[in-house]
Amino acid sequence: MHIKKGIPVSPGIVIGEAYILENEEYLVRKKEIPESETQNEIDRFEKACSASVTELQSLVTDVNKKIGQGYSHILDAYIKIIDDPSTKSQIKKVIASDHFSAEYAVETVLKRYIKALMVLNDQYFSARVQDIQDIKKRILRNLFGAKKQDLTKLKKSIIIVAQDLSPSQTVSLDREKIIGFITDTGGRTSHTAIVARAMGIPAVVGLETVSVDISGGDILVVDGNNGLVIINPDEETLKKYRQMEKIFTNFEKNLTIELKDQPSVTLDGHKVRILANIEFPEEVASSLKFGAEGIGLYRTEFLYINTRTHPTEEEHFKAYKKAIDELGNKEIIIRTLDMGADKFETSEQAKEHNPFLGCRAIRLCMLRTELFKPQLKAILRIAFYGKNVKMMLPMIATVEEIRQVKAILEQVKSELRRSNVQFSDNLQTGIMIETPSAAITADLLADEVDFFSIGTNDLIQYTIAVDRINEKVAYLYQPAHPAILRLLQNVIAAGKKHNKRVAMCGEMSGDPLYTILLLGMGLMEFSVTPTSIPTLKKIIRSVTMDEAKKTCEKALTLKTSEEIRNFLTTRIKRIIPEAF
Ligand code: PEP
Ligand code: MG
Repeated sequence: MHIKKGIPVSPGIVIGEAYILENEEYLVRKKEIPESETQNEIDRFEKACSASVTELQSLVTDVNKKIGQGYSHILDAYIKIIDDPSTKSQIKKVIASDHFSAEYAVETVLKRYIKALMVLNDQYFSARVQDIQDIKKRILRNLFGAKKQDLTKLKKSIIIVAQDLSPSQTVSLDREKIIGFITDTGGRTSHTAIVARAMGIPAVVGLETVSVDISGGDILVVDGNNGLVIINPDEETLKKYRQMEKIFTNFEKNLTIELKDQPSVTLDGHKVRILANIEFPEEVASSLKFGAEGIGLYRTEFLYINTRTHPTEEEHFKAYKKAIDELGNKEIIIRTLDMGADKFETSEQAKEHNPFLGCRAIRLCMLRTELFKPQLKAILRIAFYGKNVKMMLPMIATVEEIRQVKAILEQVKSELRRSNVQFSDNLQTGIMIETPSAAITADLLADEVDFFSIGTNDLIQYTIAVDRINEKVAYLYQPAHPAILRLLQNVIAAGKKHNKRVAMCGEMSGDPLYTILLLGMGLMEFSVTPTSIPTLKKIIRSVTMDEAKKTCEKALTLKTSEEIRNFLTTRIKRIIPEAF
């Protein structure tokens, strides 16, 4: 048994078999073979090695021809490693003496090498880790033949173990069969984590070397509430977690049933709005099931996932219509394109030195109006169709940006008028408050817009200067940092003063730890991952505004995020002990 601690990003407890997702999606199972099969497995292994060497030799010839002699030494080194007698004999020993399949033997022995190199924590050896990973993948590909494991046709439930998962890989996971996932990299507000929460898949990220530590077929406990992964648990631990799994699932189920149709009001009668964040129109139905009053954030950039071309105006319109038809007259806030470095590895942003500080979101839209205009047209048209549609702009840092967008919006309206297309002429437009400059100047921005929605995921990363997807600095990523609390206070006060709605749609709004604090600050609108709605409602219905204000006042006197978190934990544990 072995326990690893990472970052909990999607709650729940699951127990299941590990499935190692190599970048090329090969499933390496811990498969035992009968004695009579061992020679056959050794032959398969030898053949896979020869095929890998032949591939590499032809690559060497190619490289020499195209770029000249001297550039192929890395490939020569690969060939030497594959042909190394000591490595080969170790792999064959796992097959012949331990009776494991060739795939599992390759995986186990080469992983041992990788682990040994990683322990050295040296730049030179880190690069060699990559080389051995490449070699492992090449031999495995030849062992498996051209056939790749198809994640959509799994026969039993599994837990995905990966170095990293992109949001697009996450959304294509089969919810029926994939019951949890764990990764080496990532942080709480990475879009992969957000998608996992939306899908209700328990997940732990930032586990550093977990994809190397675990082999396919290992039994895992994933505790998405506490960020723990237990590898091959003993009987007693397994029993304990099976019980916890049951308690948590029942808690969530009962809470949803109990609270779905109950209003979200405080004990002393203050109404609080709870809306849902979605990435796809298909999520509207489950948002309503969890009791959402509407959609407070529709992340439209996910329309770009898994497509090679940019969506057309009609494709935007169709997606929005799908959501609206499901919502009826309930509100939907469509956020314009927020292309970000952590969402699309192949986008232009990836080529920038500091993608998060570069041409992202509204900045990209202003630069690439051929992308932006079709979306604006589709939103204007759908607002005529849907009546309760609003638009929200991401990553606003200056008043000028809002004015520039408004000018483009007027141009787009003229174009629609000229084409005799019906659209809404009084579309309400709000902005996300997710840069420190916007939070500090909220009073100036308030005059220019209809509403604010605080995007804490980015606001925290930009305020504390901590990359939201980098697990190495995740300890610094603290919603409870006194600087964040002060900025939130400023934004909520500016909204109140200027009579503008203020909502919060960053992940902080769905974290039960902060609900009372935020209520006490005067936040009356929360837009959250649908699965968080019942818990939030339960908390809101258990406090008075007076209590919430006192909690907030006390929290604001504390100096460190740890003190604030501890203080809030004791408060919230009294209401929902099951969630902690
Ligand atoms: C945020 O930054 O808080 C937010 C909601 O936007 P995203 O997570 O899509 O960047
Ligand atoms: Mg954001």
